[in-house]
Amino acid sequence: MALIQNYDVTLFEPPCLLGSPRWSSIVKIDADLTDLLPYLNGYLKKRFYDPNTHAIVFKMNGHSVAVRPREIRIGGLADKDEGEKVAKEVINFINDIHEKRDTITPDTTRKEPPKAIEIFKLLPKTNCKKCGQLTCMAFASALAKGDADIEDCPELHGETYRENREKLEALFMG
Ligand code: SF4
Repeated sequence: MALIQNYDVTLFEPPCLLGSPRWSSIVKIDADLTDLLPYLNGYLKKRFYDPNTHAIVFKMNGHSVAVRPREIRIGGLADKDEGEKVAKEVINFINDIHEKRDTITPDTTRKEPPKAIEIFKLLPKTNCKKCGQLTCMAFASALAKGDADIEDCPELHGETYRENREKLEALFMG
């Protein structure tokens, strides 16, 4: 039987007044993933994991995914339809890890994400709010917690900040 049987997706529309192009979602699930998180940490090559707060953050098909015991946050979504589709893919992935957990060595080692201040140094620092956050520092904090995606800052897409974007991506590659 699948670990997650039922889930409920809440999608967050980009704040159009602020110009953010990406949707995000929170997926509430009917299972407790606490015991599965070390298996996800053991399986995934690129991820950030905190065994104290029971949180793991990773990328899946270009989307940021933050998994906590009772909920999953997904960022970098193009629209509502993609939100529903990616939520299903993430649930299937987690159920698959649960199915094959006997073949995975669990890992409880902490793997830290970059600090918000390190991220902030590479942001445009214009506080333009296009990412949906009030300031670049707030965006840096959201990125560090896995609650935002580099893609959410449209200013980083242009040539002006190409080098900064590459450095940010390298930070998140671990
Ligand atoms: S991170 Fe800063 S520059 Fe980028 S969209 Fe947000 S407020 Fe604007």
